[in-house]
Amino acid sequence: MSSEVAARRDAKKLVRSPSGLRMVPEHRAYGSPFGLEEPPWVPDKECPRCMQCDTKFDFLTRKHHCRRCGKCFCDKCCGQKVALRRMCFVDPVRQCAGCAPVSRREADFYDRQLKLLLSGATFLVTFGNSEKPDTMVCRLSSNQRFLLLDGDGDDHREIEVARIAAVQMLTEGLPPGGRLGHPYLVPTPGGNARATGMTLQYTAPGAEGLAQLTLMASEDADGSRRQATAWLAAMHKAAKLLHESRDQ
Ligand SMILES: [Zn+2]
Ligand SMILES: [Zn+2]
Repeated sequence: MSSEVAARRDAKKLVRSPSGLRMVPEHRAYGSPFGLEEPPWVPDKECPRCMQCDTKFDFLTRKHHCRRCGKCFCDKCCGQKVALRRMCFVDPVRQCAGCAPVSRREADFYDRQLKLLLSGATFLVTFGNSEKPDTMVCRLSSNQRFLLLDGDGDDHREIEVARIAAVQMLTEGLPPGGRLGHPYLVPTPGGNARATGMTLQYTAPGAEGLAQLTLMASEDADGSRRQATAWLAAMHKAAKLLHESRDQ
């Protein structure tokens, strides 16, 4: 694909929705896999009272819709304006007490982890059950839609982020009962910062079943290992965001 075509695909446009200004992808199909659709608003006639504190709406107590969940609240219950990057809002938007903390945590992802994912890190990469790992740089593409893996020479692979089915963090240690395929990896619950590897399961276009990829932080220089560990933690958080948006 020429870079010109790629740039056209990733083009964005400014649109005005009832909730505020949004910078959305020109082509919906090429949007970020982390994106969320705007929710339908609960119709005014269906909410005579605040859905949180039950105060009746009138001339003095006006109703406001939470931009994240679309439900209807009074100003007191829906007064926080928080960034909502996943819905492409340019400015912080009004959100209810339930949604605001979720959006704040996601803002942290966009401000810190996403940058790490885009800058990439070096890993020992194993595809499927192949014996010998390759040293590759893994990073998220600038449109956030692909994991790009680059090794020696022309060795280049891409995995579509939307096709990632599961990720599992791995840490070095003795496997319980040796049940796992790899002798020195055990899964860690949650996003353990000490994790040194990750298994990604994904569907490859045209292939049946799940393909698997293992990334391990290499033992090289201390700095690159730290970078790799931080990248893994960021990818774990990214996977959680993807998982949540699929559930909605
Ligand atoms: Zn209220
Ligand atoms: Zn809400």
